[in-house]
Amino acid sequence: MTGWETIIGLEIHAQLSTESKIFCGCSTRFGDEPNANTCPVCLGLPGALPVLNRRAVELGARAALALGLQINHQSIFARKNYFYPDLPKGYQISQYDQPFSANGTLEIMTADRDEAGHPIEWRPKTIQITRLHLEEDAGKNVHEGLPDVDRYSYIDLNRAGVPLAEIVTEPDFRSSWEAYDYVNHVRRSLQWVGASEADMEKGNLRCEANVSVRRKGDQKFGTKVELKNLNSVRFMQRAIEFEVRRHIETLESGGSLRQETRLWDDRALETRTMRSKEEAHDYRYFPEPDLPPLIVSSDFIEKVRKSMPELPEQRRNRFIDQHGLSFADASQLVSDKSLADYFEKVAERSGNARAASNWIRSELLREFEAAGVSADASPIPPEQLAALIKLIDDGKISGKQAKDVLVDMFKSGKTAETIVAEQGLVQLSDTSEIDALIDQVIEANPQQLASYRGGKETLFGFFVGQVIKASKGKANPKIVNERLKVKLQG
Ligand SMILES: [Zn+2]
Repeated sequence: MTGWETIIGLEIHAQLSTESKIFCGCSTRFGDEPNANTCPVCLGLPGALPVLNRRAVELGARAALALGLQINHQSIFARKNYFYPDLPKGYQISQYDQPFSANGTLEIMTADRDEAGHPIEWRPKTIQITRLHLEEDAGKNVHEGLPDVDRYSYIDLNRAGVPLAEIVTEPDFRSSWEAYDYVNHVRRSLQWVGASEADMEKGNLRCEANVSVRRKGDQKFGTKVELKNLNSVRFMQRAIEFEVRRHIETLESGGSLRQETRLWDDRALETRTMRSKEEAHDYRYFPEPDLPPLIVSSDFIEKVRKSMPELPEQRRNRFIDQHGLSFADASQLVSDKSLADYFEKVAERSGNARAASNWIRSELLREFEAAGVSADASPIPPEQLAALIKLIDDGKISGKQAKDVLVDMFKSGKTAETIVAEQGLVQLSDTSEIDALIDQVIEANPQQLASYRGGKETLFGFFVGQVIKASKGKANPKIVNERLKVKLQG
């Protein structure tokens, strides 16, 4: 596989989170009775006129700004003509030569993965986004769960006219993992600014990949294959990996490739031909005569920009600078906006950002996962986790005790103070009491004492363990260490 270069470009369709469709007032609600949310406009009845949904433009602008695109002051809606049963008008309203936004420069973090799929080393990579334009979705053909599906196709037009942002990149990706990291970046950014739910399983984020290979050093691109039916980011990564291998093997064995569209089959773990390029459509785009040009003022763009939250990458960098977190830790905390908000509240209230990060990442996330909740629905409010951290920092309870307290807080909803009081968990920090325990332990272990004094220093840990045990886990380990050093000298 060496000596080859992989070239990948990506197209993402993201459903914008509006209440109503892009050119009519019908609801965009998911899962309603088929064809319940339709009207003359989205059914494509003659004479019905589209009216642009302002909210779709606002959310499109949020998406464009979050991905580093420039918003055009004027864009034109165009008819993309093709025939398919789920498209009653015979054309889709989209944008063509004057898109809503273009020329994006986006920095993402990416990493190669080891055999087990773990990232090896994160590095930044700049991706050029060609355009983000607005368009309407088509309906859906239904072939399952209805009578006589062997003879009939059913059509549900609830999705027809739902607003989409189509996001197209330059062929800038050189590996399947770069593509994977980009799609996850886009998903997180769209969710973060509230532009889209970007949930691939619900179908409100779909992606297609254009894949080709060429010999290293070649300027000309190889034959390109378009991959569709990629229902998760992981499937997309696998499909690209499969295609790259197929291309290289075909070319190295003297075969040739044809330009075609292929589908990923996630049961067989392979791609197969959907249609060859000869059947490709000529869409005969022309400007949509029923919609005026979309004019977006600088004021409008500025207003949208000001209403946007701090973006995940900015926030990650701030966590590193302001709170002294590592890149990996900060990245994990900004993987979800509610988690990042939660962390900041705990860090602020406890005055110990490092501990806040550690407790959230190592203990709390495990509880979230087990309970299937996100940070904004945490049974432990941020101020309560902060209170727990303070109890440790003040030496009132040990870190080990705190782990059990946290699990209890999560289950019972009680505060840390209540649990500590109820269970009598107060950490023993009184030096004279600890000294007394140490004396007992030394007296009970004369042989170990002699060995230690004879130079076997590894026995120090044994004594620490014995003292902690004698205190029933309550003794402050720091003080035990300090006092033992003194006492064992004799
Ligand atoms: Zn409608």
